Amino acid sequence: MSFDAEAKMQFLFALRSKGVTDTTVLSAMEKVDRGAFIRGYFAERAYEDMPLPIACGQTISQPSVVALMTQALRVGPRDKVLEVGTGSGYQAAILSHLARRVYTVDRHRRLVAASRAVFDTLELTNITAFTADGSFGLPDQAPFDRIIVTAAAEDPPGPLLAQLKIGGIMVLPVGQSDTVQHLIRVTRHEGGFEYDELRPVRFVPLVEGLGKD
Ligand code: SAH
Repeated sequence: MSFDAEAKMQFLFALRSKGVTDTTVLSAMEKVDRGAFIRGYFAERAYEDMPLPIACGQTISQPSVVALMTQALRVGPRDKVLEVGTGSGYQAAILSHLARRVYTVDRHRRLVAASRAVFDTLELTNITAFTADGSFGLPDQAPFDRIIVTAAAEDPPGPLLAQLKIGGIMVLPVGQSDTVQHLIRVTRHEGGFEYDELRPVRFVPLVEGLGKD
């Protein structure tokens, strides 16, 4: 299957029906072929609105969740964005069309290597991918205008809050992995942090340390 006009129309229709209204986000979702980020058997389901398995026992998120998180992040063209949880690289590719610069980190070097190869093929030159424990952020590149975490922590990690600019926004799922998690948006103001609860979600857990592969 290819991301042809018919597939795109259905894909965008599904996103709109789930509440994705931001036209800049919809146009980024239209530009990136999700099929490029999925290998093997599941590739034929790339344009369906469902999470799918990728290497290292991880998942590529559901497209509507990627789009709703991106919408909640309110990314601008001058923004420097950090993503924790590269996974397949799909979310980073969407962000690369909206932001000035995207840093993405994953604890599995194999996922980082595969994502870099796709970024090269798609000529997404404003993304830099690192193998690291993303709960510590990226101190060398901080502070960030926007931070998105695509694995669930019990609470927003302190180093990530510290690496958010004043006026910056972070979107992340919080809660234990086997119970209901909530997507929250954290906005940093001069005087502190404001928290908005957005919707229930289900993500793989944010795990400490580096993966074995
Ligand atoms: N955003 C991805 C999906 C992420 S799945 C996509 O678009 O495909 C969650 C990812 O978070 C997994 O790849 C997992 O390895 C990673 N992860 C979990 N804990 C992490 C940590 N502490 N630091 C960095 N990455 C982590």
